Amino acid sequence: MPCILLVEDEAAIADTLVYALETEHFEVTHVTTASDALKLSTDDYQLAILDVGLPDISGFDLCAQIRKSSAMPVLFLTARDSEIDRILGLELGGDDYVTKPFSPREVVARIRAILRRAGTSKGGKKTQHETIQGQKHGALEHDPAAMTISCMGKRMNLTAHEYKLLAALMSQPGRIFTRDQLLMKAWEDPGSAMDRTIDAHIKSLRAKIRECTPDDSDPIETRRGLGYTLSSE
Ligand code: CA
Repeated sequence: MPCILLVEDEAAIADTLVYALETEHFEVTHVTTASDALKLSTDDYQLAILDVGLPDISGFDLCAQIRKSSAMPVLFLTARDSEIDRILGLELGGDDYVTKPFSPREVVARIRAILRRAGTSKGGKKTQHETIQGQKHGALEHDPAAMTISCMGKRMNLTAHEYKLLAALMSQPGRIFTRDQLLMKAWEDPGSAMDRTIDAHIKSLRAKIRECTPDDSDPIETRRGLGYTLSSE
């Protein structure tokens, strides 16, 4: 049974989440402050849900503290729907976030997805199932074992960089990747490539996706000044 650490000071939100998670057979430890959370051993938990607005230190600072000793996945709960919070959260080593108000069902679904990605074993090793299972997103389907992506069932003809870029975007739909993060994911030697390179590859990826979808759809969104994301619908 996966154990979840929930750090949230608002009783109403915490109670709803604890109830939803326990109904789904998660074990939950709930504390209301970062200092109480830091008294616990991170080894006992498979995932942490951190409210960003905690009474003592912020959820981001708490995440940074946790990261010193643990690589456990972190889901942020944020009340401010500004991009900067999202970016900060993700660059601090958070794995996902939800914006308040949220439905407990959505949070449970996100947690399941994060645990699937991370593998639920203590060492964080990916399970056989995880490595073999592909990801589907709209018309796109990723087969990691074959390192191919198909669109509407047809294998796309992608360059190695285009494949790695699209695979990265598909790994976390809705997450904004900065150009630097995409360079790290798709280039062996990111120093040799430039931001503009990413833009050029995204442009050719878009053309290839448009070509294979009947409605000319473009799931890759540009977030001005930030980077790119795969639409989360
Ligand atoms: Ca709060």
